[in-house]
Parts: sequence; structure tokens; C-alpha cells
Amino acid sequence: MEVVNDNSCSWINDLNSRNNIQTISSNLECEWLIIGAGYTGLSAARKLGQLYPNKKIILADAQLAGEGASSRNSGYLVDTTLNDGFTSNKELENYKKKADIYKLGIESIKKFIKEYQVDCDWNECGKYFASSKLEDKNILKKFSKTLSKLGFEHKLLYKQDLKKRLGTNFYNIALYTSGGILLHPGKLVRAMIDTLPENIDLYENSLLLNWKKINGIINCVFKNGSIKTKKIIFATNGFLKSLGIKKNYNFPITLTASMTRSLTDEEFRSIGEPKEWGVLPVRPMGATIRMTKDRRILIRNTAEVHNPYVMSRLDLEKRSIKQKIGIKKRFPQLPDNIIQSTWSGIVSRTRNSSQIFEKIDENIFAAGCYNGSGIGVGTLFGEQIAIKASKEYTKEIETIEARNKPTWLPPQPFLNLGIKTRLIYERLRAKSDI
Ligand SMILES: Cc1cc2nc3c(=O)[nH]c(=O)nc-3n(C[C@H](O)[C@H](O)[C@H](O)COP(=O)(O)OP(=O)(O)OC[C@H]3O[C@@H](n4cnc5c(N)ncnc54)[C@H](O)[C@@H]3O)c2cc1C
Repeated sequence: MEVVNDNSCSWINDLNSRNNIQTISSNLECEWLIIGAGYTGLSAARKLGQLYPNKKIILADAQLAGEGASSRNSGYLVDTTLNDGFTSNKELENYKKKADIYKLGIESIKKFIKEYQVDCDWNECGKYFASSKLEDKNILKKFSKTLSKLGFEHKLLYKQDLKKRLGTNFYNIALYTSGGILLHPGKLVRAMIDTLPENIDLYENSLLLNWKKINGIINCVFKNGSIKTKKIIFATNGFLKSLGIKKNYNFPITLTASMTRSLTDEEFRSIGEPKEWGVLPVRPMGATIRMTKDRRILIRNTAEVHNPYVMSRLDLEKRSIKQKIGIKKRFPQLPDNIIQSTWSGIVSRTRNSSQIFEKIDENIFAAGCYNGSGIGVGTLFGEQIAIKASKEYTKEIETIEARNKPTWLPPQPFLNLGIKTRLIYERLRAKSDI
């Protein structure tokens, strides 16, 4: 297994490069080990660092901390979702449980950025669930009923209003929800790295190859060294399955996104100088598309089973063409060569879109599988899994544990066949809005 990513993500390239990177190159011992330094692992480390100032705590990542999906996402901190890619949540009670978790996720991030005075281009501008197809009104009306019952402020909007707000004629209908935040994911995760407590030893470019529990001690083998630990938290999200964690309950999916350069004054005027906005698709495989505060357009319109995980330049270029088409459909007046970067990222899915938050065995814990809500939920789950692993209990854990648990997946080759068929079906359903 390889855990590497392309180096073409605009969010990461916006940041200064880091130095003093430590790599595991000897045999180490610790009380607590966290594998994976995205939102989940960094939040777990921050919490453990606060709870145990005198214990040895190690956080290890296969690549540079934060440079996996946590920097590569679209930057929507969501309070509500219309669908999670595989199943839609029709029942009110289940939807409420999910929304309660999202709410706690937003609170965790708010608390973090307030405490550490983090600038991550935070914008409470809400979001649009938009479609070019008027017939999607039925889906949006049903969704509107759910949101009304749960007290989420929202509004149905049509073409003329959308043209003014988004600068494109493409969408015929949308449901705007005033909750939901847009942010710069790279800046957020970088702040989590920069503010790690002093007692956390961060090791990067250190791939965990395998692990085993022997006589109560967890032995972890890395490429150039090893760690013996008493307790471990797996926070590797899309790579949980490849480490044998809950392997019959989660599977990785590769997403790709592209970002344009900043629009020139003239280009920006040509689309009506809209304020920053974020659109999510009504049908699962439609495009997520966003205008950033510095006038760049981000688009994500692929989701696939991709093996190996890392995409070659050629693979990325193919997806970039799809993304250029997606942008041109919405903004035909923009030039063809406006995309500045295209990148991929790995996320983890479960069959019923539920998350993993679990004690796997004595002193072995895991959290992950957030679909499109990992910014807030990953941060929340990281903190709370650290608390759970410390044998404490909180009202947040109570809310998390009230959710439906992930359901069992069929074995291979049926699993991949099922996922691929489902993705093709969803892609066809969303064809016009990709
Ligand atoms: C294109 C894209 C768009 C998205 N859009 C959104 C969005 O708008 N809003 C939202 O909330 N979420 C979004 N997501 C999902 C979100 O990014 C993830 O849910 C979130 O990053 C999960 O955080 P994490 O810390 O659990 O996992 P990750 O950020 O994936 O971190 C896991 C870490 O584990 C490390 N690792 C894996 N295996 C090993 C190993 N064997 N040894 C050592 N380290 C290992 C990896 O290198 C990685 O750094 C999107 C994702 C992508 C890719």
C-alpha cells in the first residue's frame, strides 16, 4: 500500500512550506499513538495532549500532516446535507441525529478557531443545493419539509435570483440554507498542526506498514522503524480498510477537484461580480462548485473506485478536462485555460453513510467515514474518540453514539461491482449537472 498524493492542490500551494519535518527512523515507545494527521488525528492529539501533559504521545502520518483529504476538500462546513452520495436519509429521526452531529462538529471548529484566533477565510454565507433541472423541485420540496420540521432556515430560489447570486444562468432551481460555512481547508488544518500541544511528537512521511497487539502492547511497524504503544487511535479515514480496521464496514473512494486561477476584473464583471458562494448538487454525482472569496472557482465532479490510490498526472488531466467542461457549462464566457490545478483525495464511505466511532479492541480505537462532512465531524470525532479512549463520557459522545451504526458490506468482488454499478447509475442520473 502506498499513501502519497499529487502535489498540485491549490489549497496546499497557498500555504508556506513547513520545515523541521521529523520521520520515524528508530524504535520508539509511547503511551498513546495516533495514526493519521488529518482533522481527526490532529484533534485527537490536541485533546490527548491537554488531558495527559506528562505522557508520551506520538502522532504519525504517511505523508506531510494535513496534506491528505483534510487539505484537499471543497471547504464546506455543513449543517445539513441533502444526500451523502449513496443513500438519502428520508426518515426525520435519522436526519435529526445526523444534523445533531453536524451541529456539534461546527461548534468544535468554532471553539478551535476562537481559542487559537485562526484565520481560515471563514464565511457564514450558507449554501445552495442547486439543479439545472426544474423537475428536481420535487426533491427540494421534500427536503424543504424536512428542514422546516427541524427548524433550519431555508428558501427556494429560481433562475433569475440564482443568476444574480451565482453569476450563472445554468441553475433553474435551488434551495438555499442560511446555515453552513465556507472556509479554506488548508489554512484550517495547518492551524491545527501549528497549535499542537508541546507534548505531542509529530512524525511525518512515516507510513505504518502493519500492526499487531502482543501481550497488551501494540507493535507498529513503519518503513524505517517501529513504535510500541499501550494505546492507539486509528484516524486514517480512507485508509482504515487497508489497515484492517472495520474492513467489512468501510471502503475508499477517490475524488478529484480543480481550481481556477483568480478571475480578472473583466472576467469577474462578466459574471456579475457575485459574492463568495457554494453550490452542492441535488443529485449525488452532480458537481460541487464554489466561488472563493479571492474569485477562484473550485469544482469537484468525480467520485470513483481508483486503484492504486494515487492518481498519475495523466489520470488527473483526464479528470481536469471533465472539470473544465463543468466550468464552461456554467460560465461559457471564461477562457478555456483557466484551471490552475487539479488534485485527488481519498475519502471513506460506509454503506448507510454512517460514521465509524469505535473501540475496536481493548486500547484500540478508530474514528472516520464522514462522507462530505469530515471538516466538522472529523474534528468532533477526533476530540471525542480521545475522550472515549480515556474512559470518559460526554454529552457529545452520547449524541454520536445515538446515530445508526455502519452496516455490513458484501465481500469482494461483489463490493466493488456494487459500488461501481451504483456510481454509474448516480452519474447517469446527474448527467446534466456534472
Ligand atoms: C475532493 C474532496 C472534497 C471534499 N469536500 C468536503 C467538504 O466540502 N466538506 C467536508 O466536510 N468534507 C469534504 N471532504 C471530505 C473530508 O476532506 C474528509 O472527510 C476529511 O478530510 C477526513 O479527515 P480525516 O482526518 O479523518 O482523514 P484524512 O484527512 O484523510 O487524514 C488521514 C491521514 O491518515 C494518513 N494515513 C493513511 N494511512 C496511513 C498509514 N498506513 N500510516 C500513516 N498514516 C496514514 C494519511 O496520509 C492522511 O493524512 C472532501 C474530500 C475530498 C477528497
